[in-house]
Amino acid sequence: MIILDGKKTSQEIRNEIAEEVKTISAKGGKKPHLAAVLVGNNGASITYVNAKIRDCEEVGYTSSLIKLSETISEKELLQEVAKLNADEDVDGFIVQLPLPKHIDEQKVIMAINPEKDVDGFHPENLGKMALNLPSYLPATPMGIMDLLDRYNVETGGKHCVVVGRSHIVGLPASILMGRNSYPGNATVTLTHSRTTNLKELLQDADMIIAALGKPNFITADMVKEGVVIIDVGTTRVVDKSKKSGHRLVGDVDFKEVSKKAGFITPVPGGVGPMTRVSLLKNTLMAVRKKL
Ligand code: NAP
Repeated sequence: MIILDGKKTSQEIRNEIAEEVKTISAKGGKKPHLAAVLVGNNGASITYVNAKIRDCEEVGYTSSLIKLSETISEKELLQEVAKLNADEDVDGFIVQLPLPKHIDEQKVIMAINPEKDVDGFHPENLGKMALNLPSYLPATPMGIMDLLDRYNVETGGKHCVVVGRSHIVGLPASILMGRNSYPGNATVTLTHSRTTNLKELLQDADMIIAALGKPNFITADMVKEGVVIIDVGTTRVVDKSKKSGHRLVGDVDFKEVSKKAGFITPVPGGVGPMTRVSLLKNTLMAVRKKL
């Protein structure tokens, strides 16, 4: 069994990005500039955005954080998006989700210039992804592809079962795994809460991408020997033995399933760090397009 180490792999990618930023600067180019829009005071969103800003600093990017009030109107937020679209110094930007309930998230995503949509959520980027055209890929599925690639995991002709069909993880991951490329060329089954024969499908899977958000849902009796496990799930569960009072638990019962798996991602330290580095990759791609 081989652990797909997202922490180590993402650090390697960060180092490569930092080197490229130095090269761009040495040639007189400007530093990549990522902007993040944060609406309101959602604790998790603040943590995520701060981590993204720290990541930018680490690789030598310029970053801007635009903090907006919870009560901002949809119209005002759309005006902020328009400003970032027009700001030539900003190479890419994200609007941290979720947004307050009175704002239509889809409308905001649609307002982002697809050329600056480094989260890869705009339908133009999703469409290009489906057609195997160059585009910004959503961060988590991109991180999964990079991890498979860096460990040379064979995917062609394999049966890949994706559990969960969210627009940010399961659905795009299923498209990428089915594309005529590497990683990809898998025979993909996309499952969700209405799937009636999940256990049978999982037992037939050569590869499982678990993204349903239910701790330890996938157990050893549901998988076959040699399976490749990508565990996207991260659920906070109370753990009084930890200083923070909680720990992160994946969707897969790591302890038992790892005894049967060929490759497996840990939680934490698997898909999470790869997701973070994907945003940096997309921002660099935005800059490369202009060079
Ligand atoms: P989400 O939007 O809540 O979607 C969950 C999906 O799982 C839905 O499609 C749902 O089906 C499906 N599902 C729920 N129960 C199921 C069951 N019993 N059997 C089969 N499918 C079931 O989730 P998400 O945003 O994709 O996130 C999933 C997990 O990944 C969460 O733990 C989240 O914290 C984590 N995550 C981690 C990262 C990372 O970087 N590591 C990034 C993003 C998300 P329906 O569509 O039918 O409702």
